[in-house]
Amino acid sequence: MTTVFDCAGHVPTLSGNRYGHCALCHLDFMGETAWDKHRRGDHGGGRYCVDPAADVAVTKNGTPVARWWQDKKGRWHEGDRDVAADYWDKESA
Ligand SMILES: [Zn+2]
Ligand SMILES: [Zn+2]
Repeated sequence: MTTVFDCAGHVPTLSGNRYGHCALCHLDFMGETAWDKHRRGDHGGGRYCVDPAADVAVTKNGTPVARWWQDKKGRWHEGDRDVAADYWDKESA
């Protein structure tokens, strides 16, 4: 996926297009949606990372912009929590 930056400081525990390590904030994300939702701001400039642990952004309807959850490996997911995280844990073991 094109949104992943190379990071010289970290070796990804996983490879593949579901895994995204952010070379800017050094957090790990699973899934392109999760990655996208931690990048906020204007595409024309001023893009920035959001720390999921501190993300309190809400839409104009008052619902959270992102529903973050973190798996046992510390990787961030967005949306419904599901058993797929267990699969990813096995894959990286
Ligand atoms: Zn980031
Ligand atoms: Zn990194």
